[in-house]
Amino acid sequence: MSNTPRRFASSTDAVHAGAPRERPHHALAHEVAQTATYTFANTAELERYMRGEDPDAHREEYGRYGNPTVRELEQRVAELEGADDAVAFSSGMAATTSVLFTLLKAGDHVVLFRDCYRRTRQLVTQFLPRFGVEHTVVPPGDLGAMERALRDSTRLVISESPTNPFLYCVELDRLAQIVRARGRIRVLVDSTLATPVNARPLALGADLVVHSATKYLSGHNDVLGGVVAGPSHLVGLLREARGVFGAVLDPHAAFLIVRGLKSLGLRVERQNATALAVARALEGHPKVRRVFYPLLESHPSYAIANAQMQGGGGMVSFVVNGGRAEAARVVDRCRIAKIAASFGGLETLIEQPAIMCYFELSDEQLRALEIDPALIRLSVGIEDTQDVIDSVLQALED
Ligand code: PLP
Repeated sequence: MSNTPRRFASSTDAVHAGAPRERPHHALAHEVAQTATYTFANTAELERYMRGEDPDAHREEYGRYGNPTVRELEQRVAELEGADDAVAFSSGMAATTSVLFTLLKAGDHVVLFRDCYRRTRQLVTQFLPRFGVEHTVVPPGDLGAMERALRDSTRLVISESPTNPFLYCVELDRLAQIVRARGRIRVLVDSTLATPVNARPLALGADLVVHSATKYLSGHNDVLGGVVAGPSHLVGLLREARGVFGAVLDPHAAFLIVRGLKSLGLRVERQNATALAVARALEGHPKVRRVFYPLLESHPSYAIANAQMQGGGGMVSFVVNGGRAEAARVVDRCRIAKIAASFGGLETLIEQPAIMCYFELSDEQLRALEIDPALIRLSVGIEDTQDVIDSVLQALED
């Protein structure tokens, strides 16, 4: 591994970065420290630990405050994001919730871009107001609207890049510049869709980056988790908050995420290539009205994605002619894809947002979010690129 900082995390980083030099028993693979608490040899040792004088700086006191298997995941993600440190949580939403409840207080104001994970929007617009935290939601990627929304009380700007499901990208270095000029505002970027292989928001000026590790980082659709990476002082605050809030990641889940993380580079490379090829195959197809993929020239974020990202990621959204019923037929006929929520794993998944995550919304509410009933979200896995393309085209043509 070279010591010069790279713009994106490499496959070598994914295998090695952040791994300890030595492990117990000279084991190659990491171990699961399946324990809820830790012992002290005697009262003198406990007192030394409490005074911060224990020679074993890495020992833990109780499972809610830390775990060595979880710590390895945190160190690996910190390295991949080019961060001082990282802290893991029981899910992506636990991570985001913990950041918001740690950094905000009554009277503060938050700016959020509209196209984002639905539960993040719900947290900001429905839960935070109960605690006296105000918000403004601005159109995706619109930095002018974001700047106009800033108030003296604004403390946090939250952005995804790319967003879910329309893959809008935000010009993160400009966003950070605007926010810096206003003083005490922090930028939180949900980089779940990008992964450190495709984008590194901290290098572009973000204060904190959050991941749903459930998706690409773990990559196998068999575990939930979340990680936040950033400077030591903020991660330290979050770690303390985790000990109070209690949204800890189970050590076995951390083991699975680290195991998945090692193949992140390879998986994302394949997913980038397949998604771009599928997006190109869909664009101009007579049965497709619109395709959203950040590395298609027709996407409003093309220039930003091109400048800021290594690849466009594994998600492609598209609207088919014929409305909700025709879209459902395409979803049902797409042989290779499983109908399921989530994305970022080995298997190609497909869903119609109007029926999956936005099922209970009225047509008017869907329109407000620009969710067309005929919108399909395809999240490619690591199957052969041609097989994925053939399945999607066949589903459209049958
Ligand atoms: N952020 C994004 C962009 C997501 O898509 C999701 C879930 O789909 C989350 C956060 C929440 O992650 P989790 O399901 O691990 O809580």
